[in-house]
Amino acid sequence: LSPPSEKLPIGRLPDGTFSPYAGADKFFQLPLSKRTKDGLAASGYSKMTDIQRASLPHSLCGRDILGAAKTGSGKTLAFVIPVIEKLYRARWGPEDGVGCIIMSPTRELAGQLFEVLKNVGVHHGFSAGLLIGGRKDVVEEKERVNGLNILVCTPGRLLQHMDETPNFECSQLQVLVLDEADRILDVGFKKELNAIISQLPKQRQTFLFSATQTKSVQDLARLSLKDPEYLSVHEES
Ligand code: ADP
Ligand code: MG
Repeated sequence: LSPPSEKLPIGRLPDGTFSPYAGADKFFQLPLSKRTKDGLAASGYSKMTDIQRASLPHSLCGRDILGAAKTGSGKTLAFVIPVIEKLYRARWGPEDGVGCIIMSPTRELAGQLFEVLKNVGVHHGFSAGLLIGGRKDVVEEKERVNGLNILVCTPGRLLQHMDETPNFECSQLQVLVLDEADRILDVGFKKELNAIISQLPKQRQTFLFSATQTKSVQDLARLSLKDPEYLSVHEES
């Protein structure tokens, strides 16, 4: 066992609640499945970054998260890990349908985080799909999308499936993630996002991660966040 982090005493989360994992510094100290630990180790991840250390004890307990940390601080793993663990603990299987939607504002970013999901989730049995429009064949995609457990998508393509794909449904959704949330919540995506949200169950876990803290109360109400943890990690901290 490595010594606990000096920043947080073991047993204390920033909000004062108890967690035996609040002092964890390395991924293996967290209550993760062996499959996830093996996937992290094989990808070369061992020590958590600040935003991961701050958010994972909360997100792994089922809380909603509003996470802010600068670009390059490791936000992707801060949501990929709890998404995988949530579905794994729920014994999510092929017949259970869409359990998680991860939205990204651009195709490029969606593609990058899909790679991280594939690497860390390599020992899990979930199916995941990258739905980003462009050159990819939407007809073939429509035939396969109903069998996917995790969707990594841009808002436009997700809405296209909601509108056009027969039997497409997300009524069992467990987790919704908005990566680069400030960009997705921007006016440019407003209509698409509202149309998507209206088709998702309100009872779910929601993670918003971006470089700046999302403060709009209206946006948070729109996303049905439940008593979210506000976590900001800045360079000086
Ligand atoms: P952000 O989304 O905050 O901009 P990313 O999730 O894209 O950051 O991560 C930035 C880089 O840091 C990536 O190359 C990623 O592989 C690496 N990284 C993330 N978490 C860790 C970690 N715990 N240990 C080592 N490298 C990490
Ligand atoms: Mg990112």
